[in-house]
Amino acid sequence: MKNKLFLVLALTLSTSPLWLVNKAQAQQAFAIAIHGGAGTIDKSKMTQEKRQAYESALKKARDTGYALLADGKSSQAAVIAAIQILEDSPLFNAGKGAVYTFDGEHELDASIMNGKTLNAGAVSGVKTVKSPIALAEAIMEESVHVMLSGEGAEVFANQQGLTLVENSYFNTDARFQSLLKAKKQLAEQEKELKDFQAAHQTLDNEYKFGTVGAVALDKSGTISAGTSTGGMTAKRFGRIGDAPIIGAGTYANNDSCAVSATGHGEYFIRYHVAADICARMQYQGLSLEKSADVVINDVLVKAGGSGGVIAIDTQGNITMPFNSLGMYRASKSSNGKEFVGIFKDDK
Ligand code: ASP
Repeated sequence: MKNKLFLVLALTLSTSPLWLVNKAQAQQAFAIAIHGGAGTIDKSKMTQEKRQAYESALKKARDTGYALLADGKSSQAAVIAAIQILEDSPLFNAGKGAVYTFDGEHELDASIMNGKTLNAGAVSGVKTVKSPIALAEAIMEESVHVMLSGEGAEVFANQQGLTLVENSYFNTDARFQSLLKAKKQLAEQEKELKDFQAAHQTLDNEYKFGTVGAVALDKSGTISAGTSTGGMTAKRFGRIGDAPIIGAGTYANNDSCAVSATGHGEYFIRYHVAADICARMQYQGLSLEKSADVVINDVLVKAGGSGGVIAIDTQGNITMPFNSLGMYRASKSSNGKEFVGIFKDDK
């Protein structure tokens, strides 16, 4: 009897530390994925120089978020930090480098969601807030609301001490040239179709896409998602896209996944893309990869909506499907995997 007890004790002592170590290791998985927009990215015009510029900006954003996660910071903090780097880069359609509205201004949208608390913050149509994602986070943390828009959101940003800038701060020549081209195409189409809305539908995808976003898993097992955008070139009448709409462009829930989207916002709103991906995981028991693939490459393709998403689950799985020609994207996981690329065949 004594011998048996001794054996049980010895076995417990010798195996439990290993079990504890394994569990601790499993709990420590962390990862981040980011995107810089999907769309008709013309491979033939993608010079080596351009590619390098995009990839180094993507890596900088990804690695900044990853370093925070490695340091034990929250997925929310990592998402914000990564997005702010992309907002500050003129290469992407968010913050500096945002597209122009039909009237030649910039109107910015952003949102953030925390998968543990299901807290969310969103802002739409702001013109003077340097970092819309910082404002989305302030709305989530410091206000009793989820979404603020326009002038009221700017008053709140000011109260919160966030940096305000002139609207011209967001200007870049490349985006201005795109606006001129888009307006020329719109005028020609309007003449032919005698309907502005119908003419707008015919705008090439290159005018429609951009947006930046990030999703992350931290060491405590919480996932978060965030998205920030200038919307679509030549957008009109205070148009709001999917990026600030929780469930459409951004969603996070520790019971399923965290998603940030980019693409033709009107479709992402109507098909509530981000939440649908998470719902398929939760209720149908599909994997993250399968859920995202069905929504992007089946549901949206059938509907005629182009774009893509980045998504992560609490195990650290990452998927980044898109049905457009390209999507600027990058990821890095504590399991050693890392990626940066633009086109489908980038490995
Ligand atoms: N989804 C954004 C919007 O519709 C645009 C984009 O992602 O390219 O405003």
